[in-house]
This record gives sequence, structure tokens and C-alpha cells, in this order.
Amino acid sequence: MKIIDIELFNEYDKLSKENWGKDLAIWKMMFTGLLNYQKDIELTAFNEMVLNTFADIPKARKQGKPIILHPFNYEPELFFAMNLTPLMQESISVGIAPFHMNQPYIDFANKIGYGDNPTICNAQRPFISLAIQGGAPLPDLLFYLSTPCNSLSMSYQVFQSITKIPSFNLDIPYWAYDQGNDYYDGKTVEYVIDQSKNCVNWIENNTKLTFDEERFQHTMQLCNEARGYVLEFNELLQSVPCPVTSVTGMSIFQTMVTRGGSMDAVKVTKSMRDEAAYNVKNGIGGVPDEKIRIAWPYTHVFFDATLLTWIENSFNAVVIMDLLGHYKVLPHDTSTIENCFQSLAKGTLDASMVGKCRGPIEFYIEYMINFIKDYKIDCVIMPMHFACKHVYLMGQVTSEAIKEETGIPSLIFSCDSYDSREVTSEEIKGKISDFLTQIVI
Ligand code: SF4
Repeated sequence: MKIIDIELFNEYDKLSKENWGKDLAIWKMMFTGLLNYQKDIELTAFNEMVLNTFADIPKARKQGKPIILHPFNYEPELFFAMNLTPLMQESISVGIAPFHMNQPYIDFANKIGYGDNPTICNAQRPFISLAIQGGAPLPDLLFYLSTPCNSLSMSYQVFQSITKIPSFNLDIPYWAYDQGNDYYDGKTVEYVIDQSKNCVNWIENNTKLTFDEERFQHTMQLCNEARGYVLEFNELLQSVPCPVTSVTGMSIFQTMVTRGGSMDAVKVTKSMRDEAAYNVKNGIGGVPDEKIRIAWPYTHVFFDATLLTWIENSFNAVVIMDLLGHYKVLPHDTSTIENCFQSLAKGTLDASMVGKCRGPIEFYIEYMINFIKDYKIDCVIMPMHFACKHVYLMGQVTSEAIKEETGIPSLIFSCDSYDSREVTSEEIKGKISDFLTQIVI
């Protein structure tokens, strides 16, 4: 087992004792917690990447390197190419949810009248509270998308209005870009490419940075190398037994959305591919004596980090991949700068939640039917987060289509994925237990 090298630990520890500034207090607390947790456990490529992601923010501050805040549905390769330091907002709002440390900020948002749990999402609301209280990291630039929901898009606009930080909003088109698709529109990719180029101009106009073609191409090459490993990883998970545990897919997502386009992402995705390949070759399952294979085509219940492990231990069941964790962007040709922009645009359109939820419901139904067949799924479990109002109907219609086409049952239950006080872990476990024992087995 490779534990953290003492020199590396001391380097991080020294950094954690420096003054990061008031607005980075919560970021520093999370880093310090992670570092202490890491002290005696194996230092995997993934854990090292997470530590680097945290450490890069104070380092960027010291070096005068601009920081850009972005949401969980956009990868940072363009930002790395422009020599910016990316900070994914949900690392904070969602990152503190398993420890229930988000609750005071949710309560504060309620108190000031900034929505409630069903209307505005708690994957962003805590950050708005932090911003008003002066405790949110203050980036130099703000980037967000028009998708996956109005709630997200609006909270980023509110953050911009509070902080007056220059912002760029990328509009995501509705239609498909592959010619054989019934919903094909030839302008889809070009529309995103144009906006990506506008984004480059916007970054140049708001910083002293300039676009460097060679650096962009190198970044996109690294990004596509990692996508190649993820593609192999995804295919390996079709094996029975599934070679990894239920939470592994989520780590792939976290890797690509925080470090896509960096060497870190290449290392992590390769190590996950290698582990899955080794386990397939040796018949090792992520869950011993695997009996049930579950599709989880939506987000995790983030306030309970132990839920999937409980499912594994209680029912010998494996959650193959959740919606975010099933990263489906294919590797592309990056031989020219135009191809790199095209790869960037396709990656934006196919990103985990964006790709499956940005267009007609047929995108999602087709995705689910294929997933169930490819991954030999026995049942579907879908937590329906209160604020995801735009997918309430989609979940029900899809479960009926799945039943008709494949015969397998679905469980859909409501909860607030970030707030344990709405529907508790015990209630959720009760529903899952009844479903698995009375309907699936
Ligand atoms: S969890 Fe739902 S409501 Fe929240 S940001 Fe994601 S899509 Fe939007």
C-alpha cells in the first residue's frame, strides 16, 4: 500500500498553515480535513488529484494566476488551455453535504427568502449564503451554462449580481449533432464552437492571458487520452461481476469535471481502467457474490455517503454507474485546432448530465434502454431530487418505457439529495429495501 510520502505531506501541511484569505476559509477547512484523512490511508492517483485540486487555488492566488468558477456540468480543459485555475462551485456546496455542514447555509438561504428546497437547488444555494456572508471564494471570472436547469443557471446569475465578477454564459442547444438521429440539426456543434471562441475572447479581454494554439492542442490531447481510458473503463463494467464498487463511476466524473485536460486526469482514468481490467481478468467483483445489478440514472443521495455501500453489503447488489458517473464523451481527433474546438464542443454537448437531459425525452429513454441491455441491469433506482422539477415527468415516462421494452422494474422516490432533514436516510433505505426484497428478488 502506498501511503502519502512524508515530504509531500509536509508540503501540503505547510500550505494549509498559510494565510489563504477569509474567502477561502471553507476551502482551506475542506483541504485540511482531507489531508488529515489521507495521512494513514493509501494515496491513490484519485486522492492525490483531489489534494492537488484544492492546493491549486491558494497557489494560484500567490502566483497572481486568475481563478475561474464553473459549475459541475462543464469540464475545465479550455480553462487549463488558457492558463486559468478552475474551481468547481459544487465542490463546496455538495462537498460539505455528507457532513451536513451545508445545513446552516440552507437555513440561511431560507431565512433571507432565497428559495426553498423544492424550488431552488441545494447544489448551489449554500454558495449564495456563503457569498452573502463573505465566506465564498471570490474568483476572478465566472462561467456557467444554460443547462441542466433554470435553478442552476439562476443561482450563478445571483452570485454574479452579488459579486459583480465578469461572467460568461454558454447556451446549450437542444438538438442532436449526429446525422442519423431523428432530432439532428446541422448547426448544433457550430453553435457551441462559436460560443467557445467567444469565451476565449472574453477571457483575453478580462485577463492578461492570450490564447496559445499549441497549448490548447496539448490540453485537448490530454483530455482525449483520458476519454479513451474512460471508454475502456465503461466497457469493462459490462462484465459480470462488475469489476468495481458502486462509487467508482462517480470518481471518474469528478476527475473529468475538475481536471479534464490535465495530466492528473490521464493518470487517474488510466489507473481506474487498469484496476477494472485486472479485476475482470481475475474474475474479481467490486461487490463479493454479486446478485443484483442496479442502474441509478440520476444523481446520488449526496447527504449520505454510505448509502451505496449499505446497498452492497445488505443485498449483494452493485450500482453499476450513476448518471453523472457514466461519462460518455468519446475520444476525438485533435490533429488540427478546428478539430480541437470541435472536440471541445462535442464534449460540452455530451457531458454526463447535459448529454442525456438537454434535449427531447427520447435522448434519455434511448440512453436508458441501451444502458440496461449493455450492462445487464436487473432494476432501476432513481432518487428524484425535489428541485429537479424539469425531470419529474421524464422519470415516470422513462420507467414505463423501460418496463415495456425490457420488463425490469423501477423505483422512483422523492428526496432532497443534499438535505437529510427532508427525507431521511432511514426512509430512503426502507423504500430501497422493500423494492429489492419484494419486487426485484
Ligand atoms: S440536481 Fe437538479 S436542480 Fe440541482 S443543479 Fe442538478 S439538475 Fe439542477
